[in-house]
Amino acid sequence: NRKFTLAKRPDGEPKPDDFKLVEETLPELQDGQFLVRNHYISLDPAQRGWMDDRPSYMPPIPLGDAVRASAMGRVQASKNPDFPEGQWVMGLGAIEEYSVGQSGGFTFPVDVSVAPSPTNFLSVLGAVGMTAYFGLLDDGKPQEGETVLVSGAAGAVGSLVGQIAKIKGCRTVGIAGGADKCARLVSDYGYDAAIDYRGKDVAALEAAVREAAPNGVDIIFENVGGNILDAGLNNLNEKARIIICGLISEYNSKEPVGARNIWQLIVKQATMKGFLVRDYPPRFAEGAAAMGQWVAEGKIKFDEDIDVGIENAYDAFMKLFSGSNQGKMILDVSPA
Ligand code: NDP
Repeated sequence: NRKFTLAKRPDGEPKPDDFKLVEETLPELQDGQFLVRNHYISLDPAQRGWMDDRPSYMPPIPLGDAVRASAMGRVQASKNPDFPEGQWVMGLGAIEEYSVGQSGGFTFPVDVSVAPSPTNFLSVLGAVGMTAYFGLLDDGKPQEGETVLVSGAAGAVGSLVGQIAKIKGCRTVGIAGGADKCARLVSDYGYDAAIDYRGKDVAALEAAVREAAPNGVDIIFENVGGNILDAGLNNLNEKARIIICGLISEYNSKEPVGARNIWQLIVKQATMKGFLVRDYPPRFAEGAAAMGQWVAEGKIKFDEDIDVGIENAYDAFMKLFSGSNQGKMILDVSPA
């Protein structure tokens, strides 16, 4: 069993030697346990935060442990009648080829027959899709005709947020890095306008948002933070809602970056709220049904970027920070 473990706490941007691929023999199964052959591992920006030793919504990954991750696999051996051999399961696991599960743990069975690919449970039908769905609808409460500004707009969460906002009758403006991604924002994800943030300082970003959203911004769905958030804050409408979903531009910075235009919350009587998908699993069935239906109706397009081999875990993870991932980043660790 090969495991991608955390050897050191990264100082800023993670380096290859912050991690170590270790091999261990599999333990003997106890009664009630089952052995999962992991297939697909979700690579998420949040994992960067779990590598630090600082207060968070989850404890830091202990040094020497496999890096925590949502994982999907099949039961290969079982001493638990609720998890028979061959059953697909998913849950909060780790970047490792095999995991041992038991009832009451994080792993639950999944009926993969309802989706075109099991990987969809890590993207549009999983935490990423549910983040977009509940973050936008519950916290953003989009109304027809409103303008929604999304950062990280070509990414796993952002690409879905833009499309859900469109379904709700909003005007959508997406911010992403590079001309290719910006073209995809419009052609693939239906954004009304796209802004390439690369090479733009905060004043240029602010002007670009003003041009793309001439009537102002009613909802910001924030995935990035820093200058990008600041530019949005200076374009708010009265009673705007700002959903802080992620701040990826800050995850590798050694100093907190923070937004400087918080004053605009007062000026516009706006609401800024943090969103965490962690508390939503009881409503996943509802969200996945809606997302699944929109996918079936051709109203939602989603992309998955699947790299292969646990030995490529570091390179695949770092694509999230260079922006070279094209859709939900997934690592297939199933090849022998
Ligand atoms: P993405 O698929 O969006 O991949 C990350 C993207 O972030 C990259 O492709 C890159 O796109 C962009 N990015 C990386 N570094 C920077 C930077 N310094 N400045 C600007 N953009 C950057 O990942 P996810 O969809 O999985 O996650 C998106 C956000 O949502 C993250 O902030 C994540 O933490 C958050 N999230 C929050 C959840 C919650 O419950 N609160 C749940 C899931 C995700 P580009 O090429 O455009 O730069």
